Amino acid sequence: MKVIRAKSAGFCWGVERAIQVAREQADGGKRTVYTDGPLIHNNQMMTALSTEGVREVGDYRSSSSIELDEDERDDSVVVVRAHGISPERRKYLKGLDLPFKDATCPDVGIIAGKVRMHATKGYDVVIFGDPRHPEVIGLMGYAAGRGHAVQTEEDLGALPDFENGVVMVSQSTMFTHEFEHLSALLAQKYPELVVFDTICGATKERQSDLRQLVADGADAIVVIGGHHSANTCKLAKLAESQNRPTFHIETAEELDPCVMSEFQSVGVTAGASTPEFIIDAVCRSLESMEPSSEV
Ligand code: SF4
Repeated sequence: MKVIRAKSAGFCWGVERAIQVAREQADGGKRTVYTDGPLIHNNQMMTALSTEGVREVGDYRSSSSIELDEDERDDSVVVVRAHGISPERRKYLKGLDLPFKDATCPDVGIIAGKVRMHATKGYDVVIFGDPRHPEVIGLMGYAAGRGHAVQTEEDLGALPDFENGVVMVSQSTMFTHEFEHLSALLAQKYPELVVFDTICGATKERQSDLRQLVADGADAIVVIGGHHSANTCKLAKLAESQNRPTFHIETAEELDPCVMSEFQSVGVTAGASTPEFIIDAVCRSLESMEPSSEV
């Protein structure tokens, strides 16, 4: 079977950086690295990192309290995930009285800076994103009570009337066309709306490279990554919208050879938290499959 691998697939620079920070802090297993929730949304990579001393202690939303035994505190450090955290959570984690290392992706840091600056000036802040996602939870914290997360036109319609300035930003992993649509709608009501397209470059690249797979002749698309990974789910949704059978899998074991043999060529992409070794295994598995009939 012909396999077309997307030009950009797998770890984005923000995730690579967070993993590098965690590994450096773990120092080959000499120290325990506590991450406030999963460092990245990929179970296989988290399992691999756990053997190097990286241990998740918080929850997905970075909201629960963290209890550490005194003997767990020796030679340990807290690392903030690439998604970032709210100022309140930062204060809480620093209060644990452990060494603290921030691996927030700089692209998320830029969004947080825009949110904080405008909220401080009295703007209401509309954030296009999933209110349950840790990145959006963190950004809402920077909005200091002036934040409103929206995902749909209905959410926009449910917003209160704003009396002061309004600014709109996006969670880093959303679709550009949806952000443009919703920000244009909001601008109809608030002509002075300040809009920052804060969807990150890595997300845009992965989305356009996925479209290229179809242009390059992929009959079907395999999207690899955690079922709980927001950016992977977005890629799968985008693939489905390209009118190609789409298979969202976490590992090569989930590929059904009978089903895949119906296709001559398959495009492969992966979310920003999917490690290279899983992408390689999926590509090798697909390449070993024979299409059921030649065209
Ligand atoms: S998806 Fe974008 S914002 Fe998120 S960690 Fe990667 S580069 Fe940073």
